[in-house]
Amino acid sequence: MSNHAQIGVTGLAVMGRNLARNFARNGYTVAVHNRTASKTRELVEEFGDEGEFVPAETAKEFVAALERPRRLVIMVKAGEPTDAVIEEFAPLLEPGDMIIDGGNAHFADTRRRERELRGQGIHFVGTGISGGEEGALHGPSIMPGGSVESYDSLGPMLEKISAKADDGAPCVTHVGPDGAGHFVKMVHNGIEYADMQLIGEAYQLLRDVAGYSPAEIADIFRTWNQGRLDSYLIEITAEVLSHVDAETGEPFVDVVVDQAEQKGTGRWTVQIALDLGVPVSGIAEAVFARSLSGHAALREASRDLAGPKPTPLSKEEAAAFADKVEQALYASKIVSYTQGFHEIAAGSAEYDWDIDLGEIAAIWRGGCIIRAAFLDRIRAAYDARPDLPSLLSDETFAREIADAQDDWREVLVAATRQGVPAPGFSAALAYYDALRADRLPAALTQGQRDYFGAHTYRRVDKEGSFHTLWGGGR
Ligand code: NAP
Repeated sequence: MSNHAQIGVTGLAVMGRNLARNFARNGYTVAVHNRTASKTRELVEEFGDEGEFVPAETAKEFVAALERPRRLVIMVKAGEPTDAVIEEFAPLLEPGDMIIDGGNAHFADTRRRERELRGQGIHFVGTGISGGEEGALHGPSIMPGGSVESYDSLGPMLEKISAKADDGAPCVTHVGPDGAGHFVKMVHNGIEYADMQLIGEAYQLLRDVAGYSPAEIADIFRTWNQGRLDSYLIEITAEVLSHVDAETGEPFVDVVVDQAEQKGTGRWTVQIALDLGVPVSGIAEAVFARSLSGHAALREASRDLAGPKPTPLSKEEAAAFADKVEQALYASKIVSYTQGFHEIAAGSAEYDWDIDLGEIAAIWRGGCIIRAAFLDRIRAAYDARPDLPSLLSDETFAREIADAQDDWREVLVAATRQGVPAPGFSAALAYYDALRADRLPAALTQGQRDYFGAHTYRRVDKEGSFHTLWGGGR
């Protein structure tokens, strides 16, 4: 077999198959391989006319098909399967070759794998890929980590197959060393959880407080999608809400069991934020809201708990309320992104990744699930001031939140009065108010800690560490 394939993809489930097709459609010769060889044959039979594929049944054949230095993309189930595949292929590779892991790996695993393979002279490129199966085929947002050298070789190919933003820029950049790419993909997914939760809360408020039908709410989302909330998630929300179940004729959203599932990247975002000490309360509420929804027995046992039942507003009041919900959603969204970017900055500082936050916003503008017009503005904010302490310190975002805040507060008052849970909106507002507070009750916390544990405290009026001899304290 001649070794002329410029890239190889192993793992040909939905993601790997579409990524391989994307490379082939862009003119690259692609070696393809899958543990179960029938999938490799199926790919070539079904899509062989889209470009040049080199099917390989064994690992040896696969590696032999690749030009040097070899570029080998792994698209298998994250976790142990990824280690198994690396163990199978690494002994067949040579120094300078590249293994690109496009699965949803935990960045700590990526750091370990990168370190181990570096010893062998192999570049391990942990790469976040977002956009689902459609993105993989037509252009995803790609977040590669790994060495600069590996990006020199891979970058042009990734730029070709990636999504393009409206200004034509490819949605890929060298994120940073070792686990940086997978870290950024993890936070992307955490932000995605928060975005989805906030949209869900807006929907619930429009339904229960304003009294709109799913079809009417779909129209409201379509209108919002023309403005500053213009995004893929708002667009598909309108589609989902206007969908009618063919079997029952009911709105689709009413026939779906209201228990949200999750695969883990949102949870990782929160776990790592806890380790780094970064307050990502909006993302955390989104993860908790999904887990609460899944506690069917607990919810059933709690149905009779006392509380108000929402009474829908009049038509005129409803329209005015919908405008306020748009403000609350937008302001809460700014806070979610503020928290997510803070986590990326903290990860970058902890692991010496030197991540360019503006570039991250730029490569999320196309291809990925959170793509939105809004990201252009985040990019602009970091371009104008790369050392921006927080997105809320950007003048434009600060002004927009200032303009939105009265409505944001009113929406939360209505939600609280009417007993409609809005944990994402309210966590976002609490974060905002905590940041702008003159004094926080943390001073009291410090007093309590000193009282029961002699943990000491600092004073506002002099330097040093102090302990009070509390009467009756231990
Ligand atoms: P998947 O269901 O996560 O994985 C199936 C693939 O993994 C098959 O090719 C399977 O081979 C292979 N595999 C599993 N265990 C293996 C092992 N021990 N050794 C060798 N191969 C093994 O597939 P997917 O949904 O296409 O996702 C691929 C990766 O992309 C995952 O890491 C996923 O998290 C990530 N991802 C997915 C999406 C998405 O929207 N689906 C988006 C971004 C990233 P067989 O055919 O032989 O079973």
